Amino acid sequence: MKTVIVIAMLQQSGTARALAACAVLAVPLGLAACSGDAERAAPQGACPVPPVDVVVSVDQWGDLVSQLGGDCAHVTTVLASSAVDPHDYEPTPADAAEFQGAQLVVINGGHYDEWAAKLAASTAPDAPVVEALGTEAHGTEEHGTEEHGDHDHGDHDHGTNPHAWYDPAAVRAVADAVRDRLRTLAPDAAGYFDERRSALTTALEPYDDLIESIRAGAAQKTYAATETVFDDMAAALGLTNRTPPGYQVASANESEPSPADLDAFIRLLGDRGVDVLIYNVQTEGSVPQQIRAAAEQAGVPVVEVTETVPPGTDSFVTWQVDQLTALAEALGVRT
Ligand SMILES: [Zn+2]
Repeated sequence: MKTVIVIAMLQQSGTARALAACAVLAVPLGLAACSGDAERAAPQGACPVPPVDVVVSVDQWGDLVSQLGGDCAHVTTVLASSAVDPHDYEPTPADAAEFQGAQLVVINGGHYDEWAAKLAASTAPDAPVVEALGTEAHGTEEHGTEEHGDHDHGDHDHGTNPHAWYDPAAVRAVADAVRDRLRTLAPDAAGYFDERRSALTTALEPYDDLIESIRAGAAQKTYAATETVFDDMAAALGLTNRTPPGYQVASANESEPSPADLDAFIRLLGDRGVDVLIYNVQTEGSVPQQIRAAAEQAGVPVVEVTETVPPGTDSFVTWQVDQLTALAEALGVRT
């Protein structure tokens, strides 16, 4: 099965528009940096220092980093609302140019966005890298030691799941690591970055509250999923994963499940063997559709999730809260 990011370039934020223009400019200029020196020369808005240039690999992390940086960071998200599967994305020369001049790089890590780790190492070798799967900030001295060998997607050191933005603990760890790196890069703005980190904690309250409510109200509840994307969150919620193991392995490896595995999944749903089906709407193919149809026929609630930030959603919190609200409703949890 292949993840398809269905809709591209709609509802762009101002930042995304600026970046799109920047990418267009960067092509004829070769490796010209998008964030010019002119921009870095003067403090902007509420920031007491020139903004730090930050490059984020994928949009799942982009909004969080933008919120942490505020007026003291110029954040470029390389893979924002693209019609590509982040799992096997091939970077373009324009993507490489985005890393030019980066002072801080934020990536998901593992094989998910290995291209970004490589571009950072070659194009911005002095920039520290915050890696979500590492949950720690990685200094420049560690460049070159981050090779994870020949693991498949889904077989990272950190565990079996690369979708770290669905792990609430990883979200907090990344926020802390980004804050720490920004403080180091712009010590005169340390107080500002502390304020932004506190503001993010406040912004995340609806997300944290929903997680707490579902945890409290959905003990013993079960789910199955067409893809592994949401599994870290489901674990944090205390839900039990009843996805047939054969199907789960095939899904994690982005291969087609065997007819027997698919059959096991269909029967599980027909028997109402789970409380909810988690369905990644960014997956194409007949297999997920058959599974969804089986759930609907059996009356098992279907909760839609996405791999990347859906078009028209302006923040990480909105995105996650919408999904968690739908899940709470499907599980009969009062929020
Ligand atoms: Zn995925």
